[in-house]
Amino acid sequence: MRILITGGAGFIGANLCRTLAESADVSDLVVLDDLSTGAAANLAGLRLDVRLDVRLGSILDREALDGAMDGCDAVVHLAAIPSVQRSVDDPVRSHLANASGTIEVLEAARRHGNVHVITASSSSVYGATPTLPKHEQLATRPLSPYAASKLAAEAYTLAYGHSYGLPTLALRFFNVYGPLQRPGHAYAAAIPAFIDAALTGNAITVHGDGEQSRDFTYVDTVAAVITDAIARGVSDPEPVNLAFGTRTTLNELLAAIGDVISARDGPPIRVEHVARRAGDVVHSQADGTRLAKLFPTISAVDLVTGLRSTVEWMSADIDAR
Ligand code: NAD
Repeated sequence: MRILITGGAGFIGANLCRTLAESADVSDLVVLDDLSTGAAANLAGLRLDVRLDVRLGSILDREALDGAMDGCDAVVHLAAIPSVQRSVDDPVRSHLANASGTIEVLEAARRHGNVHVITASSSSVYGATPTLPKHEQLATRPLSPYAASKLAAEAYTLAYGHSYGLPTLALRFFNVYGPLQRPGHAYAAAIPAFIDAALTGNAITVHGDGEQSRDFTYVDTVAAVITDAIARGVSDPEPVNLAFGTRTTLNELLAAIGDVISARDGPPIRVEHVARRAGDVVHSQADGTRLAKLFPTISAVDLVTGLRSTVEWMSADIDAR
């Protein structure tokens, strides 16, 4: 199979390329990425047994998109401007990449025939809905422009399934973490920012009291689900949570990171609390029932195992800086 990964030079995309390349069903990978938040270096280090065609271009450029999708059986649509805070700072940019970009990808899939489209949505679409765990039938109440744009992306994806018979799957990712997720910028996710501060002996900044909780998912688990979805052509008329119903507070996460780092003889962690951020959701936990039905053979990498690999990668990355 020939697979297009939009945003394939990003954190999840590059990890997915590595996993897809190990699948017996895949012969060719095509990446379309404008490198706005990703990095070519994420792919340069991969040793793949399949053909990899990396194209520098935007999903908002129809010609680039058509060229990249030519001959593809499936597209994993990851390209987006992620991060709640980025969208609060520049909502139009997030909308264009995340919502308009998705309809362009779907239109290209329609032009190219029966291309299987798997779109990355986000747990942020649940927003202000207080019910836990979050099951897919709950009302969506986006709190940020990012969440609104991801809701539009998944709604378009499913609408193209209903309206044009395109085989589509919209997966709501929940706080994905792992190697290649970079700290060191204002929009960094919590886990890389925490580990980087801890490994470099700096105080870890926590927004709020640390009792907010998340359903952290290791990136290899996400890649395993997508690889299985491609191999079996899984599509669904409803959105599907991609998480396993674990709930970890930031304080519990900090303790686990501290344990992993001290087992490597690293420094003790220090924490400083600052004000909560606008648009941040307090608690997030998936109901994984639908995921388990659709992907019965996939189990999640546990938090401590995932943190160990992440700390190992980041430690090497810090040494190489
Ligand atoms: P990332 O920033 O590392 O990857 C996004 C990639 O998309 C980058 O390589 C970027 O350069 C590329 N991109 C952005 N705009 C583009 C455009 N117009 N054309 C082509 N490429 C473009 O982020 P990530 O964490 O790997 O996220 C991948 C996807 O997963 C995104 O859709 C994101 O919204 C979604 N998601 C991620 C998480 C998470 O916890 N990381 C959670 C929920 C959803």
